[in-house]
Amino acid sequence: MTSHILVLGAGIVGVSIALHLQERGETVTLIDRSEPGEGASFGNAGLIERCSVIPYAIPRDWRSLLAHASNRNAAVHYAPSFLPRIAPWLWAYWQSSRSERLTKIAGELLPLLEACLTEHERLVEAAGLNHLLKRDGWVEVIRSIAGMEDATRRVSTLGTDYGLSADLLDRPALHRLEPALMAAAIGAIHWRDPFTVSDPGALTKGYAALFERRGGTILREAVKSVAPSGKRWRVTTAQSSHNAERIVIALGARSNDLLAPLGLRVPLVAKRGHHLHYRSDTGATLNHAILDEQIGYVLAPMTDGIRLTTGVELAPPDAPANRVQINRCEARARELFPLGEPVESEPWLGLRPAMPDMKPVIGDAPGHPGLWLAFGHAHHGLTLGPATGRLLAEMMTGGKPFADPRPFDIRRFL
Ligand SMILES: Cc1cc2nc3c(=O)[nH]c(=O)nc-3n(C[C@H](O)[C@H](O)[C@H](O)COP(=O)(O)OP(=O)(O)OC[C@H]3O[C@@H](n4cnc5c(N)ncnc54)[C@H](O)[C@@H]3O)c2cc1C
Repeated sequence: MTSHILVLGAGIVGVSIALHLQERGETVTLIDRSEPGEGASFGNAGLIERCSVIPYAIPRDWRSLLAHASNRNAAVHYAPSFLPRIAPWLWAYWQSSRSERLTKIAGELLPLLEACLTEHERLVEAAGLNHLLKRDGWVEVIRSIAGMEDATRRVSTLGTDYGLSADLLDRPALHRLEPALMAAAIGAIHWRDPFTVSDPGALTKGYAALFERRGGTILREAVKSVAPSGKRWRVTTAQSSHNAERIVIALGARSNDLLAPLGLRVPLVAKRGHHLHYRSDTGATLNHAILDEQIGYVLAPMTDGIRLTTGVELAPPDAPANRVQINRCEARARELFPLGEPVESEPWLGLRPAMPDMKPVIGDAPGHPGLWLAFGHAHHGLTLGPATGRLLAEMMTGGKPFADPRPFDIRRFL
C-alpha cells in the first residue's frame, strides 16, 4: 500500500530517507526552507569516513583537557558564556567518552559505517554523480616522531580489530603520493578505505534531483510547526499547511525546534564548524584530502579550491561566522601546503547536529504514532546519510532492518 509521507529537511539525511522510501513504493514529499543540501551537508570536509570506527570523544587525559581549557587550540574553540547553557550535554558527553562506553558505542555504530560506501555507491551510480566521488582514501599527516609511533600502533590495532586498510608512509613515500606537501609532514597514514567527495553540496543536490526524476516532490517552504490532527499530522509552513499520515523530522541541528513543542526534549547541540577555500600557490595540487590531526583541520581539494574545514566551535548556533579557528588553522596549514589567497572573503559556517552519546537518533517517536526521526549525525552525517535512509525506510515500511536500530532509539533520552 502506498501512502503519503512528508520528509522535513533536505540535507543528506532527509534526501537519503526520501529516496529509500520512494524505492519502497511510498509517495514522498520533501520540504526544506532552502534548496536541498544547503545546510551542514553543503560545506563539510567531503569525507565518506569508512575508517572513523571510533567516534570523536572528549579526551580524558589531563594534558589534552588543559590544552582545550586554554581555548587557544585550533581544533576546539568555545565561547565561555555558552558553556553553562550546554553543561548537562557536556557532562553526558564526558560520561560517554569513558573507554568502555566508547567501545560499546563504536560497536553499535559499526553496521551503519560498514554500509556507508555501498549505500553511497548505489545512489551515486543511479544519480550519475561518479565525477564527484574519489575512491582512494585520505591522508593523515604526521608532524613528530611521537606521532609516527602512535600512528604505527593505530594502523596495526585498527587494521586487526576492524579490518581497515591503511599504509604507513615515511617522508619519501608521502612525497611520492603528495609531492606538494612540505617538510613539516614527516610521514603519514594513508587510510585507503574511505571515499571523498569534491563537492558535498552538489552530491546532496544530485541525490535530490534523482528523487525528483523518479517522481518525488520538493517544496521550498520553512516549517513552522508540526502537530497531530486526528490520525494524521499537520505540517504548517510559512506558506501553507500539509497533512500526511506519516512525517519524518530530519532537520539536522534544528530538529529540536519542532520536537520541543511536542514535549520531546532531546540533548541536541550544534557543534559549529567553518570552511574557507584557497587558491593553490604556484599551481601546486593536492591529490587527496589531508587531515592534520595534531592541529585539527582538514585540507581537501574541492571544486571551489582547496577547502580548509575547521574542528569544533561551541558557541550559540545563531552567532555569526567568525575567523578564529580559520586563522589558527591557516597559519599551520601553510607549513604543510603552499596555500594561495582565499577564494571567499568570509568563511562558511555549518552546524553539526550532535548527541552527547555520539550516536544519531533514528526511529519512531514514542506516544506520537506516525512521527519518525533521523538527526544527530554530528561529524559523520555525510558518511551515514544513505545508510540512515535505508535503515529508517526499512523500519517505516515493515522491512527487516539491515542493522539493529535499538541503539539509535530516542527513548534513551526520555
Ligand atoms: C565543518 C564541517 C565538516 C564536516 N565534515 C564531514 C565529513 O567530512 N564527513 C561527514 O560524514 N560529515 C561531515 N560533517 C557532518 C555533516 O556535514 C553533517 O552531519 C550532515 O550534513 C548532517 O546532515 P543533515 O541532513 O542531518 O543536516 P543538514 O544538512 O543541516 O540539513 C538539515 C536541513 O533542514 C533544513 N531546515 C532546518 N530547519 C528548517 C525548517 N524550520 N523548515 C524547513 N527546513 C528546515 C535546512 O535548510 C537543511 O537543509 C561536517 C560538518 C561540518 C560543519
